[in-house]
Amino acid sequence: TYAVTGSSGQLGRRIVHALLDLHVSPFDVIALARDTATIDDLAALGVRVRHADYDEPASLEVALEGVDRLVLVSGSEVGKRAEQHRAVITAAQQAGVKRIAYTSLLKADSSSVGLAPEHVETERALADSSIETAVLRNSWYTENYTAQIPGYRERGAIVAAAGDASVSTATRADLADAAAAAITADAVKPVYELAGTTFTFAQLAHTISSVTGTEVTYTSVSVEELAAGMVEGGMDEGTAQFWASIDASIARGDLATDSTDLRDLIGREPTSLEEAVRAEL
Ligand code: NDP
Repeated sequence: TYAVTGSSGQLGRRIVHALLDLHVSPFDVIALARDTATIDDLAALGVRVRHADYDEPASLEVALEGVDRLVLVSGSEVGKRAEQHRAVITAAQQAGVKRIAYTSLLKADSSSVGLAPEHVETERALADSSIETAVLRNSWYTENYTAQIPGYRERGAIVAAAGDASVSTATRADLADAAAAAITADAVKPVYELAGTTFTFAQLAHTISSVTGTEVTYTSVSVEELAAGMVEGGMDEGTAQFWASIDASIARGDLATDSTDLRDLIGREPTSLEEAVRAEL
């Protein structure tokens, strides 16, 4: 029996679908969410649904009863996640879960990205447990950029502070297929670095221009200029600093990889940037 946390989220929901696409019986899939009303669509597929709140350890014990393999989708409440994930791992241990696939961050152990320490802590907690672990170090979502295409086209520019550096990304759909593949596989590696495509911001601008027909250019600015511009546009200071710091990490190469783990895991070419831009239109 498989279970997936965060099934109400964009990635978790796709992972449930990906398991069914691999012909896992819906009866062998348990979709976990803190509000089961948000996953009625999954229940309608015949999947079992259970309540699981990372902040309520008692709910996790009940939710994981009878589960053999668990996909732990990292939570979205930054700052609380290491503790939340530890609660899931403890409950999984008590329930006798045999394998966990955890969605971490690309090169988490060496990354300057501010989100990395919580992932590293979780990876350690998994290593300290007796449960077989597949760490899925997910790259940045391609959608983080393609969702901004309307804004890029309106401004005719992509303003970023990554210099000439590359960023590796993957679509949520490909990463969901990877999670489903890892949790169902006969054997797994301890760590996967998952990326589907790698591009510079100039290449992103070029691809959007050629696919949409709207000329978009890359405007390279400093990290300080980027943050100031976002604050001017109405973003609060903390959020602006966070996003600007991501570009600084990209400039350092921390969100790029040439790993082929994603292709190897899903057994096909991951979605290219051009395909992802087309799909967004
Ligand atoms: P979403 O925000 O769509 O989903 C987050 C999921 O976490 C939701 O199902 C949410 O439940 C669940 N969750 C949050 N807090 C709790 C809790 N206390 N108890 C139980 N469930 C909880 O994110 P995505 O699906 O797009 O991404 C999955 C994860 O990947 C994110 O949570 C984050 O850790 C990470 N991420 C990765 C990015 C990348 O570019 N690679 C970018 C952003 C995030 P609910 O629906 O009830 O809120």
